[in-house]
Amino acid sequence: MKLIVVGLGQAGSRIADEFARINKRAKSQRNIEICPGIFAVNTDAADLTGLTTIEPDYQHRILIGGRKTGGHGVGKINELGAEVARADADKVIDALRSARHFYEADAFLLAASSAGGTGSGSIPIIAQRIKERYPEKPLYTLLALPFEHERETEERASYNSAVCLKSVYGISDCVFLIDNQRYVMKDSSLGNNISRINEMIVEPFYDLLCAGEEKNPRFIGAKTLDAGDIIQTLSGWSVYGWGHADLNKSFNPFERSNDFRKKTSETHKGIQAMDEAISEMSLRVNPKDAGRAIYLVTAPAKEMNMDMMRELNEWMRELCPNAIIRNGDYPRGTSRISVNVILSELSDVEKVRNFYSDSIDLIPVIKQRQVELRNKLDDIDDMSKDIPSLLE
Ligand code: GDP
Repeated sequence: MKLIVVGLGQAGSRIADEFARINKRAKSQRNIEICPGIFAVNTDAADLTGLTTIEPDYQHRILIGGRKTGGHGVGKINELGAEVARADADKVIDALRSARHFYEADAFLLAASSAGGTGSGSIPIIAQRIKERYPEKPLYTLLALPFEHERETEERASYNSAVCLKSVYGISDCVFLIDNQRYVMKDSSLGNNISRINEMIVEPFYDLLCAGEEKNPRFIGAKTLDAGDIIQTLSGWSVYGWGHADLNKSFNPFERSNDFRKKTSETHKGIQAMDEAISEMSLRVNPKDAGRAIYLVTAPAKEMNMDMMRELNEWMRELCPNAIIRNGDYPRGTSRISVNVILSELSDVEKVRNFYSDSIDLIPVIKQRQVELRNKLDDIDDMSKDIPSLLE
C-alpha cells in the first residue's frame, strides 16, 4: 500500500519524518516505495528546519501562517491553527500534487497531536480540503493524544483534543488513535523520549505497507495483504499493535498456562506475538468493540505453517467476536515472527469519551477568554482611531 503522508504541527511533522525514514529503508533494503509523497506543515519555521529526512525544500516542508504568526507557531490556540490552515490550504494542496508518484498513492495519511495548536487546529481543515479535491482516495488521520500529566494540568490539552477528535472524526475515513502515555509505559526507561515514541508509532506500518508492494516472488505470501484489504478494513476509530517472538529463543511452555501448550513451537510463538500486539495496542480498547480487524504475520517462509495460521485465526476470532477479520502472511525476515494487528470501526473508545466529558465544563471558560481577548483588542483599536497612520 502506498500513502501520501502529511504531518501537521510539531508532533505530526516528526511522525511524518519517521515515515520518510521507513520509506527510505523500504527503498534501500526492499526496493519498494511505500510513501510516494511525505510532507511536513507547520507554523513554526524552526521546527521544520529540525526535521532530518523529509526533503529540505519549501515544497515538502511547508510553512503556513507566516504573516500571522511570524514563523513562531500559534501557541496552544488551535482555533488559530485552523484559521491559518484555512488561509494557506491551497499552498498545501499544490505541494501534494508535486509528489513524483502522486497518482500511484492508494490513500492519504495525515498526522498530528490532538493537544497542540497548529496540528490540532489544522488537521481537520487540511483533511477537508484534500477530501474535497480528491474524494475518491481514502483519507486517514493519526492523532497522538497527550500524556497523562498534560491532560491533568493543561486544560487546553483536553479541550483541544476533544475539539480535534470530533472534527477529524467527521471528515476522515479512519482515525488512528495513539496514546502517548501507552508508549512511555511500554518501556519505563523511555521517560519522555519523544523520538523513540515516534519510532514506535511508525514502525508497525513498515511491514504492513510493504507486504502488498513486494515484487520479488520469494517474498510474496500465500495470502497477500494488499491495499484493498487494508482499505476495506479501515473505518472510524482505530488502533493498532505490533508484537514479536524471537525464533532463536526456545519457547517456555509455562509462559502460557492453557491448552496451547501442546502446539508446535512456531504456533506458540505466533500466538505469543499476537498476544503482545493485542495487549500493547496504540490505545487501550476492548477488542470486542471492533467491527473490523486485520492482521499480518511476518516470518521466514519456513516458519509459516498452516497450523500456526489456523490457530492465529481462531484466537483472533475469539478476541474479536464481532469483527469482520482479514489477514495475510508476509514471508520476510530471518529470526522472528511478527504480528501486526489493526482493530477498526470501534464502537466504543473510553479515552475519547473522557476527553469529551472533561471538555464540557471548559467550553464556557475558554469561550469567555476568547471574548475577553477580542474585547481587549477592540479597545486598543478604538484608542488608536484618531492616531494618524503611515499606511495609504
Ligand atoms: P503544535 O506544533 O502546535 O501542533 O503542537 P505539538 O505537536 O507540539 O503538540 C503538543 C502535544 O504533542 C503534546 O501533547 C506533546 O506531548 C505532544 N508531542 C509533541 N511532540 C511530539 C512528538 O514528536 N511525538 C508525539 N508522539 N507527541 C508529541
